[in-house]
Amino acid sequence: IIQVQHLKKRFKQLEVLHDINFDIHKGEVVTIIGSSGSGKSTLLRCINLLERLDDGHILYHGQDILGHHFDVNAYRSKVGMVFQGFNLFNNLTVLENCMIGQIKVLKRNKEEAKQMAFKYLEKVGMSAFANKSSVQLSGGQKQRVAIARALCMSPEVLLFDEPTSALDPEMVGDILNIMKELADEGLTMIVVTHEMEFAKDVSTRVVFMDQGVIAEEGTPEQIFEHPQEERTRTFLKRYL
Ligand code: ATP
Ligand code: MG
Repeated sequence: IIQVQHLKKRFKQLEVLHDINFDIHKGEVVTIIGSSGSGKSTLLRCINLLERLDDGHILYHGQDILGHHFDVNAYRSKVGMVFQGFNLFNNLTVLENCMIGQIKVLKRNKEEAKQMAFKYLEKVGMSAFANKSSVQLSGGQKQRVAIARALCMSPEVLLFDEPTSALDPEMVGDILNIMKELADEGLTMIVVTHEMEFAKDVSTRVVFMDQGVIAEEGTPEQIFEHPQEERTRTFLKRYL
C-alpha cells in the first residue's frame, strides 16, 4: 500500500532519518521498536504528512504523495493515526468526535456518520459514553474513543504512535486487546510500541530502528529469537 523510498528528514542541521526504505502491504501488522529518539514518531509523521520530507519519496499505491496531482486529503483519510496523547476534540462529545471527520472530510450525511460512529463505539465498548464530553473520560476511555474515531474514517492503514504509553497500567491491556482484535480482522497497521509482548504476538513483521536508520527487520521470531545485529540484542536485553 505504502512504499517509503530513501526518506531523509532533518530538523535544522540535525538529520534524524537517514535513508529509510520501508514498505507496508495489505493485511500486515508492522511494529516499530527502538530507543527513544531513534526517529520512530518522525517516520510515522512523515508517512502521514504531518512532517515535510527533506529527501526521498513516499508512494501510495505507486503514486508519489508529494506529486502535484495527488489528493492529499483523500490520502490522509485513508491513512489514519492514533496518538499517544489521544488528540480528541475536547469541546465535542464522544459521538461528535467520531462524526466530525466523516461529515467534513468524507462528506457522509449525519445519519450515516452516526451509524458508523455507534458501530465502532460499540466495538471498543464506549457506546454508553456517546453523549459524554470527551474531557470527562479516563485515559483508557479516551484512547478507545480515539481508535473508534480513526476506524470511522474507513482507513486502509492505521498508524499507532505509542498508543498505550500514556495510560495507567491497568488500561494498557484493554487497548492492546482491541488492537489485537483489529489485527486479527485483517486491518493493516503500523504500530510504534514499547510493548514487546504485543510486538511478538501480533505483528507480522518487526522493524528495529536505531539512530535514524532501520537497523534490522524481520519476523517476530527473527528479531526476538535470532537478532543478527549487536544493537538489536543490546536493545532487547533491556526488555527481558
Ligand atoms: P520516543 O520513543 O521518545 O517517542 P522517537 O523514536 O519517536 O522517540 P522522534 O520523536 O522521532 O523519536 O525523534 C527523533 C529525533 O528527532 C530526536 O532526536 C528528536 O529530538 C528530534 N525531533 C523530533 N521532533 C522534532 C522537532 N519538531 N524539532 C526538532 N527536533 C525534533
Ligand atoms: Mg515517539
